[in-house]
Amino acid sequence: MKNLLLPLLTMAILTFTGCRQKQTATEPENPFFSEYTTPFQVPPFDKIDTSHYLPAFIEGIRQQAEEIAAITENPEAPDFENTILAYDKSGKLLNRVSYVFYNLNGAHTNDQMQEIARKISPLMSKHQDDISMNPELFSRIKKVYEKRHESGLDDQQIRVVEKYYRDFERQGANLPAREQETLRKINEELAMLQVKFGENQLAEINKNFKLVIDKQEDLAGLPEGVIAAAAETAGSTGDEGKWVFTLAKPSLIPFLQYADNRNLREKLYRGYFMRGNNDNANDNKQIVKDIVRLRAEKARLLGFDNFAAYVIDENMAKTTDNVDKFLSNLFRSALPVAKNDLAEMQKIANAEGNSFKLESWDWWYYAEKLRKQKYDLDETQIKPYLKLENVRDGMFEVAHKLYGITFSKLTNLPVYQKDVETFEVKEADGSHLGILYLDYFPRAEKSGGAWCTGFQPAGWENGKKVDPIVSIVCNFTPPSGNVPALLSWDETTTLFHEFGHALHGLFTEGKYTRTAGNVARDFVELPSQIMENWAGEPEVLRMFARHYETSEIIPDALIEKLTNSSHFNQGFTTVEYIAASILDLDYHKLKSPAMVEDVNAFEKEAMDRIGLIPEILPRYRTTYFSHIFDGGYAAGYYVYLWAAVLDSDAFDYFRQSGDIFNKELAAAFRKYCLAENGNDEGMEQYRKFRGQDPSQEPLLKKRGLK
Ligand SMILES: [Zn+2]
Repeated sequence: MKNLLLPLLTMAILTFTGCRQKQTATEPENPFFSEYTTPFQVPPFDKIDTSHYLPAFIEGIRQQAEEIAAITENPEAPDFENTILAYDKSGKLLNRVSYVFYNLNGAHTNDQMQEIARKISPLMSKHQDDISMNPELFSRIKKVYEKRHESGLDDQQIRVVEKYYRDFERQGANLPAREQETLRKINEELAMLQVKFGENQLAEINKNFKLVIDKQEDLAGLPEGVIAAAAETAGSTGDEGKWVFTLAKPSLIPFLQYADNRNLREKLYRGYFMRGNNDNANDNKQIVKDIVRLRAEKARLLGFDNFAAYVIDENMAKTTDNVDKFLSNLFRSALPVAKNDLAEMQKIANAEGNSFKLESWDWWYYAEKLRKQKYDLDETQIKPYLKLENVRDGMFEVAHKLYGITFSKLTNLPVYQKDVETFEVKEADGSHLGILYLDYFPRAEKSGGAWCTGFQPAGWENGKKVDPIVSIVCNFTPPSGNVPALLSWDETTTLFHEFGHALHGLFTEGKYTRTAGNVARDFVELPSQIMENWAGEPEVLRMFARHYETSEIIPDALIEKLTNSSHFNQGFTTVEYIAASILDLDYHKLKSPAMVEDVNAFEKEAMDRIGLIPEILPRYRTTYFSHIFDGGYAAGYYVYLWAAVLDSDAFDYFRQSGDIFNKELAAAFRKYCLAENGNDEGMEQYRKFRGQDPSQEPLLKKRGLK
């Protein structure tokens, strides 16, 4: 669930600004300036140099501005073709460079690229505003919009017209010139602040903190693989002969789970939850205050009560009240479950002869003991069965059984880093569907978390389908010494999750950039989360979970333990998640002028109000809440849980049919929820698949909250 979809959202935002193909003679050596000649037209990573980005952005912006001018200066009366379609297909070069740049800036960045990101951020923001506040362009779109029902347009064309009209309205096209000027300044400032927030985050994780251990006894409790990985990390941080733990999840979580040394657990966890809050050069508190203030003002200008209302207006949920009710209902179910677990964990600690009261840095450690006690399951028992390559092949097989598609590994495509894998995805009949990149392991140049994105969305151009090129980026446990990459259960479901996003990208169909694959934010996590359901099915586990040394299929007893423990820690997981979602909403429900005096006090007040217990922190605290402060999830962190209701309900439908690989249901899910999802509102598309409204029951049952 810690899965960021930022680049994909960025992509969606970029593509709908987007244009008509145009070759340029300038700088022929810059690979962005012409169609890629690589196999499947993937980006020629081996020919792309950092120096190519800025000129391509500048030329891309210039070309799109020219394309917009051609639309507005057209002497013909505005119609679908000469205005909507021309705009829908504009910005080709800008998109081409954006897909590569933003994805690599997340997955494989360096100081120069960050410098470029800072340079282009205000340029892009200005360019976007130049388009969305262009009165001539808006006036033409408005004319087409007003006559949309009497112009002989089909349903999809009408939907595209309506979407664009609404986008422009939401971006200030209807405002008087003076207010548009203010809005521009706000957007520019916001763009810069968000970039800075992300940079501070990266520095806090990768540069400002490490836990160096030089005494063997301080490693007590840690599994061998974790110790070996820490020794390797030490080699790369100049601490040879010692052990280094970092704030990256594969290093942090096992330490919190297993390290017997309580003081060191506290030290590491403090490093984690104080990120961006250390009053140093990478502190994010003032940035948060500025972002919140500017967003509230932006919402006010655009005629909304607050920024959350502005965002949610476009979503399935429609109003902030609906989201509030939804979250507080589920919070009430989850909190007692978490408190129960806490009481049981305290008992374990006491029985060990301890007199301390459990703190937040104890949760993982005692949860692990509780898991052992209650379910006789130790994560280290499962990991040998979760070799990365086996998990990967297992998810490919699930997709094959559902949709008939196949995956073959390619070795002839350029990659941006040597460990990145590429696959060709084919339909059941052997025809080409798209390309999939997989980038698994943490690197200092990579942002934390896991996400799915693309170098080319599925589309339509000159009467032909454009094939998608999608990419999954993770930060999984890497191989260490002779031991291959063995995933945790959490990492396994994360891979299935991102793969679900990838399938969404691969299956997307549609002639218009604005609607193809472009779904409401609280729909986005349905395609991804539904795949997690398959990962844990006994039938599926037997397909892929084989011991990495003996190839033995995972024993039934272990599967049973895994199934029994599926409710494990769900109270905690749901509570920490909802706490963060409510924190997000609290910041974005502030009315302009929104002045947060003290970020830490604001956060504490919000958490006290809902009765969050001190042993659980919100999944993201304010100063490292990247989803909402430098990602696309402001006032939208709730969407994972919203979609969890949908995915649990949808998977329940498969299960009830008696066949989790029911081909008929899979075909309907593919058609309505993955391929044509942009054709109508999210809930409508869901009902077409499901035949009825979604119910919350399957989710509550799945998490043991009822
Ligand atoms: Zn996701």
